[in-house]
Amino acid sequence: MFEKGGKTMRNGKDSSKKSGLDPHPAATGLDRRDFLKSSLAVGATALVGAGMAGCAAVAHAEEPTGEPEIVTSSTEGLYGELPKDGFYVGPNATPVPPLPVPATWDDVADVVVVGTGAGGCAATLYCATKGQKVITVEKNPMCGGASATATAFVCQGGTRAQNAAGLPFDIEALTTKYMGRIAYKPGLSQRKMTRQMIVKGPEAIDWFIDQGGPMKLTTPITYVATNEWDGERGVNATNYASEKAVELGADIRLETECIRLIKEGERVVGIKVKELTSGLEYCIKGERGVILCAGGFTGNFDMLRRWCPSAAQTCKTASTFPGDDGLCVRLGQGAGAAMAGWDSFLAFDGGLDVGDWYHRIKEGDVQVARQPWLGIDNRGNRYPYIAFALEGWGSLFHQAQIFQGLPNSTGYVFFDKNWEKNTLLFNEGGCRRGETPQVISPHERTAVDPDDWTQGVRRGLERGHIKTADNFADIATQLDLDPAIVTEAVDKWNKMCEEGSDPDLGFDPLWLIPLKDPPFYGMVIGSQLLATQCGLQVNENFEVLDEAGKAIPGFYAATMTVGGVAGNNTNGSLSAPVGTLNLSWTTGYVAAQSILGELG
Ligand SMILES: Cc1cc2nc3c(=O)[nH]c(=O)nc-3n(C[C@H](O)[C@H](O)[C@H](O)COP(=O)(O)OP(=O)(O)OC[C@H]3O[C@@H](n4cnc5c(N)ncnc54)[C@H](O)[C@@H]3O)c2cc1C
Repeated sequence: MFEKGGKTMRNGKDSSKKSGLDPHPAATGLDRRDFLKSSLAVGATALVGAGMAGCAAVAHAEEPTGEPEIVTSSTEGLYGELPKDGFYVGPNATPVPPLPVPATWDDVADVVVVGTGAGGCAATLYCATKGQKVITVEKNPMCGGASATATAFVCQGGTRAQNAAGLPFDIEALTTKYMGRIAYKPGLSQRKMTRQMIVKGPEAIDWFIDQGGPMKLTTPITYVATNEWDGERGVNATNYASEKAVELGADIRLETECIRLIKEGERVVGIKVKELTSGLEYCIKGERGVILCAGGFTGNFDMLRRWCPSAAQTCKTASTFPGDDGLCVRLGQGAGAAMAGWDSFLAFDGGLDVGDWYHRIKEGDVQVARQPWLGIDNRGNRYPYIAFALEGWGSLFHQAQIFQGLPNSTGYVFFDKNWEKNTLLFNEGGCRRGETPQVISPHERTAVDPDDWTQGVRRGLERGHIKTADNFADIATQLDLDPAIVTEAVDKWNKMCEEGSDPDLGFDPLWLIPLKDPPFYGMVIGSQLLATQCGLQVNENFEVLDEAGKAIPGFYAATMTVGGVAGNNTNGSLSAPVGTLNLSWTTGYVAAQSILGELG
């Protein structure tokens, strides 16, 4: 037996090690085109490397060639209304075939979980509380994934606290309401899935509270996980769940990436992993099967172009985290899974023209851009601004949808030297707030610098995506806009501000601040991609389905690795009844119950 050198989790807060992930354009300074070129090379190399160590007796199934190819869809027949061929599929979007069973397994567990976002942590903890031997692998040096940086666990009702507060909870009425928001998908019993989320969302939260989890109800339909260090952050849920699971005997292996599924006949029986620090590869058997909780593919442009083309075309940046690469979705496809949730994704406002695909959601340049300034399209038409006070978290993705609908999915905002004072005055909520070091969580500090948010504005100026000049004609030229259009829009805006009312769009009078004090600033703004909601097709028990709608034995998936929970074509909106953070949590919880045979 070889010695495995990967870091086993003792403490979910350990972030001392550098990630072994491939460098991302955000880190390397590559622009998007360079990123695409280099990621093709990285993808091909990684797949070749994947066959080189561990599982000595493994005979290799066919490897993707690394060449871009036109393929007929792996879901041929499923999307009968779409062209069956002609989709460009770059090498990072090809299905990755499973491996056959090795002569000997290096490790055996009852349940194997991949990923430690909210869903992976919930699945791991659930299995551990049931006395199962669970091995969980996580490619990052810490648990939490994108879930750690999120805030709101959306739940429509039905928890003990919500019931005590008198929140109505009619399962069938809520199911019908959410069915109305979700484009119906022939072949998938969307009603059963929607109902399952409404029933299991509150159950999963109460179960976590019963485990001692630090969850508290903050609005009628929002829970947050809190602690004194991190405030209200998903990281408090993922840290607590992963630490408690380890106490109960779960084996969480950090910096360990799942690189292949292993199948025996029709059944998924295990995974092959790679330790990112040592390069060691080995195989883990899951007696009951494997649950993929590995997030989506916001960081994989080939996958986006193939499965979420509207996101690829309309979002300017992605803020999930660069390692959200869709490999596990491709592994699932290679194992025979169908895809669901065509072109569905969640986007917020605040996508910038920074040159890199990944950009942190609360970087200062993002925060200054998403304030209620004068905002126009390239023809000088103003577009609406949806205040947080008006629609809560919904304002962020409804604003994103407004940007997606503008010419070139692009808006332009203009402000003057008083931007810092006015941003405070607007007092926008949610993640439109400028944050100071005191409220940036230690988790995020490991990923970004802890500067005051205004430093991000200064960096934007240095990098050149915040344009500045003493007159708007110059700024227009820098933004490739017609100076006459911009100066006319500014003149109209200033006149309207003096009059104190906005007959066109009904802006709050508080926002009507004339652009008078140079230096002036201008920026491009659009939407930022937060989550893909297209992925492996599952039934309401999170068993993965093949093209014929049959469950693939031993194969379960949850989190953004699955698609269809929010329906199809949900371009930018939050249409699942449990949002996305609680969708991750709840689907991991249900998949764990399912793999343990507890569901009907
Ligand atoms: C800043 C931010 C704020 C947000 N705020 C909210 C909010 O308030 N409310 C809301 O509902 N939604 C919010 N969202 C969206 C929501 O948080 C995410 O969509 C959701 O948490 C994603 O969960 P996940 O489990 O799919 O992915 P993740 O949490 O990213 O977990 C996936 C994990 O799998 C690991 N992994 C991936 N591939 C492999 C592999 N091959 N081997 C091993 N490990 C692997 C990853 O490293 C990662 O840790 C926010 C998103 C962001 C980025």
